[in-house]
Amino acid sequence: MGNYDYSKLLDRAEGTFSKSDKRESRLKIPEPETMGEGKITIVRNFGEIVDMVNRDPRHIAKFLMKELGIGVTQDGNRLTINRKVSPQAISEKIRQYMDTFVVCYECKSPDTEIRRIGRTDVMFCKACGAQNPIRGAGTGRTEENKVEEGRTYNVTVSDVGQSGEGKASLYGVTIIIPGGKRGDEVRVYIKKIRKGVAVGEVIKEKK
Ligand SMILES: [Zn+2]
Repeated sequence: MGNYDYSKLLDRAEGTFSKSDKRESRLKIPEPETMGEGKITIVRNFGEIVDMVNRDPRHIAKFLMKELGIGVTQDGNRLTINRKVSPQAISEKIRQYMDTFVVCYECKSPDTEIRRIGRTDVMFCKACGAQNPIRGAGTGRTEENKVEEGRTYNVTVSDVGQSGEGKASLYGVTIIIPGGKRGDEVRVYIKKIRKGVAVGEVIKEKK
């Protein structure tokens, strides 16, 4: 609840301080409305989100799948994710998607389209005319050297804690990996992170 008020305050401040910068406010991405059913998460308003993002829903779904490291199924207005994911984590991913594929890197206008030129996806901005190859295309995350909840990373278990849990260290964060053995190279999904310590669940062993 506190968070909600805080973000409202921020929105208001934005409206006050950057009147000239209306472009982003045009793009109010709806908060994901999620529904948990056992181990899956259903985003009920995925269709609305897609409408705002204005890109192929399959492309967005694929991005989420890659970023979350789990299967997702898109079915009309609904998106089903094969794991429990918080609306915040989904929101964060959508924002990341916007930053990568929708919002012009130069003028921040969302009025862009992606065209494939040769082997490169290029973002064309209708507002300022900028043409930029999509950043980090192929990985979607090359420039964020940061451990974040809801993302997946390749790590090597470098240590084992007192209760036998594996530990790895990445970008200054200690990742606790239940079941990880020293020397294991694994791909982990970050379930929680707090104060420089994260809990990662092994998705698959990297052989
Ligand atoms: Zn632009």
